[in-house]
Amino acid sequence: MTDKPIVLFPEDVQRLMGKDAQRNNILAAKMVADIVKTTLGPKGMDKMLVSPTNDIIVTNDGVTILEEMQIEHPAAKMMVDIAKTQESEVGDGTTTAVMIAGRLLENAEKLLDKKIHPTVITKGYRLAAEKSQEILKEIAVRLNTEDIDVLRQIAITAMTGKGAEDAKEKFADIVVKAIKQIQTNGKIDLNDIKIEKSKGDGIEDTELIAGIVIDKEKVSVDMPCIIENAKIALIDFPLEIKNPEIDTKISISTPSQLQGFIDQEERSIKELVEKVAMSGATVIFCQKGIDDFAQYLLAKKRIYACRRVAKSDIEKLAKASGGKIVSNINELSSLELGNAMTVEEVKHGEDTMTYVRGCKNPKALTILIHGGTGHVIDEIERAIKDGLGDVASALKSGAIVPGGGAIEIELARRLREYSQGLSGREQLAVEEFASALEYIPVTLAENAGMDPIDVLTELKARHDSGERNAGLNLFTNRIEDVLLAKIIEPLKIKTQAITSASEVAIMILRIDDVIASSGGKSSNRGGMRGMPSGMEEY
Ligand code: ADP
Ligand code: MG
Repeated sequence: MTDKPIVLFPEDVQRLMGKDAQRNNILAAKMVADIVKTTLGPKGMDKMLVSPTNDIIVTNDGVTILEEMQIEHPAAKMMVDIAKTQESEVGDGTTTAVMIAGRLLENAEKLLDKKIHPTVITKGYRLAAEKSQEILKEIAVRLNTEDIDVLRQIAITAMTGKGAEDAKEKFADIVVKAIKQIQTNGKIDLNDIKIEKSKGDGIEDTELIAGIVIDKEKVSVDMPCIIENAKIALIDFPLEIKNPEIDTKISISTPSQLQGFIDQEERSIKELVEKVAMSGATVIFCQKGIDDFAQYLLAKKRIYACRRVAKSDIEKLAKASGGKIVSNINELSSLELGNAMTVEEVKHGEDTMTYVRGCKNPKALTILIHGGTGHVIDEIERAIKDGLGDVASALKSGAIVPGGGAIEIELARRLREYSQGLSGREQLAVEEFASALEYIPVTLAENAGMDPIDVLTELKARHDSGERNAGLNLFTNRIEDVLLAKIIEPLKIKTQAITSASEVAIMILRIDDVIASSGGKSSNRGGMRGMPSGMEEY
């Protein structure tokens, strides 16, 4: 044996072990939950995020905040992933999910302090998470999918507090109408709803349009403003002379050679336009460019054309009009054309857009959001997306739960009952799980300037006496039957939030060793890579 120390890792590898690793991860997760905490609920505040390029986002939306913050700490990143999963699975409830996870970890820390081993805590949490799913299914309320009023209320609950206040009745109508229209045999694909934004007018002018709205104007003022019974060509090749891929030099020595060359170019453009016209198309949506001469020729033929249309828009147009996207001029014939009743150029304030109405597929829909500034419009878009997600999710599962913290309190109560049958230490873990859920109504109250302890005490007492729908109504600031007050959310928000929150909490609790390599980069700013500075001393 020698005294020489054994070196396992390169020098720049940072390592945290045991208790240090655990505490560091828990602290980071808690910090993430604390960030979004103040935005929870209808009285939650907004955050202003400024990007390195000085773009500003003002939002109340959990996942947007976390995604924009460019978080680096590895455990904190796992928390951000909870929000992302929630967003893709349900479309709402991101703040809730992150907060539950943060609180599960914070409560676990208390148990760690009592010298309870992490594996006992994770076992208790797992039991509690499974039991929660069971209880939630049992206490969820069946949704009458034909009841438009309930669906509107689900949309309103999703949108309150998100800058949509003044027009939320109208937005709820739009959301429910849109979803009802795209629903086929119980299936809902939210991609069928296009969201387009237009600056100018107020948010209350936001409208649902039966058709596709494209944020493009016709390429030439000489083209007709409206085409009836449109035959639509969707092309992804340019209507211009291709720039040669390699540098080419053409030597021209006489004026007639130059003229010949120009004539040649014009002839090819003419031929292209002629071929498009031959197909019978009266409207062209082109993914690439259309040059001046082609514009002139198309206008002369009374064809309406838009250039540089986004690929996603072309795809939506294909689905809506029944047309095919054509990438070679020789493949374009009347068979590839789509149909729409009208294609029209419409001006809104500063924006000029193209409306494609009366499509072959009646499911083609656009929600056109109006608003005074880009920031307002973007936040309204997020609110409407939450509304769409919640209504779609409620219709899919056919189950709803009371909001305003009612479901969390009832769940916590039943989990505590269940914990009575468990062994001592696991029982403690299940109880901590229950109290993590109570953090939701507590925060709803706190964000509304109410006394969180009073609210929690009263909520618990009312649930103990059998009022399972007692929740915090933040329209009236009173505790009452929130199901009657129609503060309702889809069941899936809660089941998904609990699943992902507990999975991540358990995963973080099981880590007792963090080995971070800087990969040869010197991105190390004095601390462990990815750890907020100052945390390495924790
Ligand atoms: P999340 O990102 O989790 O969806 P929100 O900021 O949208 O966060 O807040 C959702 C919470 O607000 C839910 O718990 C919901 O029940 C609650 N909530 C919504 N409307 C009301 C209301 N009128 N009164 C009380 N609570 C409400
Ligand atoms: Mg929400």
